[in-house]
Parts: sequence; C-alpha cells; structure tokens
Amino acid sequence: MKSGLSFHARFSIFLFLERGETKPACCSGQKPALGIRSMRRRTKVSVREELAEYGIRVARAGLVAGAGGNISAREGNLVWMKPSGHAMDDMAPGDLCGMDLATGRQVRGRNRPTSESAMHLGIYRARPDVRAIFHTHSAWASGVIASGVELRPMFAEFVNDLGRTGTVPYVTPTTRRLADTMAEKARTCDTIFMVNHGVLAVGASVKQAFYRVAVVEDAAKSLVAACIVGTPRFLTRAQIDEILSLDAVKFRSKMMEKGA
Ligand code: 13P
Ligand code: ZN
Repeated sequence: MKSGLSFHARFSIFLFLERGETKPACCSGQKPALGIRSMRRRTKVSVREELAEYGIRVARAGLVAGAGGNISAREGNLVWMKPSGHAMDDMAPGDLCGMDLATGRQVRGRNRPTSESAMHLGIYRARPDVRAIFHTHSAWASGVIASGVELRPMFAEFVNDLGRTGTVPYVTPTTRRLADTMAEKARTCDTIFMVNHGVLAVGASVKQAFYRVAVVEDAAKSLVAACIVGTPRFLTRAQIDEILSLDAVKFRSKMMEKGA
C-alpha cells in the first residue's frame, strides 16, 4: 500500500504518531480519575458511576473531541446513556439519562439523551447479550476507515479483543436509518467501522466495550505507521486461528466480559 505522501509529510506524521496523542494521566498534569478498582474496593459501584468514569477514560485516551461520540450501559430494562452535547469527561453520574429499553422512553434524568439513543436502544434489542455500547469518533480510526483502507489484524490484540468486526457505509448520523443499519450489523458484529463517522463497539461489560474502541484506534495508528515506513503485513488466517485457540486468549476474553 503506497501512501503517495512526500517524505516531509510522512516524517511529520511519523513524529506525531511517535509522540502519541495522549499521555498517561500521571504525566499530563491532569487530576487522575479515581480508578474503577479502587472505587470498587471502597463501595459497590453503580452502573451510572462506572459509565461516567469510563467517559473520562474515553476522553483521556483521545478517542473523542468535544461532545462527539456517546456511550451507554444496560442495567436490566434500564439503559443509561450520555446526555446529548456533553463531553464524555464532563458528565457526572447524575447527568446520565435513563431510558426504558422496551418503550424507548426516558424514565430517569433531566438532560436530553444522546442524539444516537435510537441506535443504542436498537442494538440492545438486537443483542440481549450486550451490556455496554461505546461509540467514538476517534481520529486515526475515522481517517483510515474513511480512506477505504480496511482495518485488518496486524497484531494479537486486534484478534483477541475486537470480536467479530465489520464495516457499514456512510449513513447520516442520528437518523432512524443509521439506528436500523447499526442494529442489523450488530447482530453479527461486535466492533463496527462506520465510514465517514467513527467506530462503535458492543461489550458484555463496560470495560470490554471500552477496550474495543481503544484497540481499534491503536490498530489504525499502527496501520498508518506501517504505511509510512513500509508496507503493512497482516496476520494470516492460520495465525489468527492459532491466536484464537490459545488458552491465554480465552482467559483474557473472560476477564473482559466480566469487566474484572
Ligand atoms: P450526542 O452529543 O448527541 O451524543 O452526539 C454525538 C454523536 O456521536 C453523534 O453521532
Ligand atoms: Zn457519532
């Protein structure tokens, strides 16, 4: 795959990638969010608290800009969602909107729910095993997906963590058509690349959905890096199958599903 960019442009991108978009909280001067593990140790964490905490992680990992993207988590028949127009790191547990899964009506919270609420509800109805949905507009993944270049496994995390992947063509954001397209795609996919829009991942836990969108962004950066310095080599079918058969991989998947 040839990038067609000048050396200067390729080198600038390389430096940018190498520098990374985000720094760990400890080096960024930001106040670290209370980790989920330490929160759990103190007291039982509610689904709302967990979702708000992971919203901070999504923003800190550079997976959204401004108020872009939305996340949700299901608690029985209640689905907690990001309020529309809120940045993910500017959302207290009390700001979240609680939606009745069966009726689609808002039953908790005073804020207006995310403009993609129909997409979230449609996916939960299509996939009763799903407990969390993360939708991001992460820059590297969105760019690669928009280019038409397919994101494929180059490393083990892609295989371990993303589950079944698939791509949907561009559909106007926030529309019923997008909600229907995504619900249909989610029947057979766990991580979905949305052309000219972003990424969506489902999870059996909040943690699993978060890890999936984070790994997609890493995969996009690795692909761009590989294209800058040479030609990417992807894992073969046999290599993928061998990774999937590993005991270590099955253990990791279970941990992620449990959200442990
Ligand atoms: P909301 O702020 O309404 O969640 O919109 C963000 C988004 O991702 C639209 O696709
Ligand atoms: Zn979006």
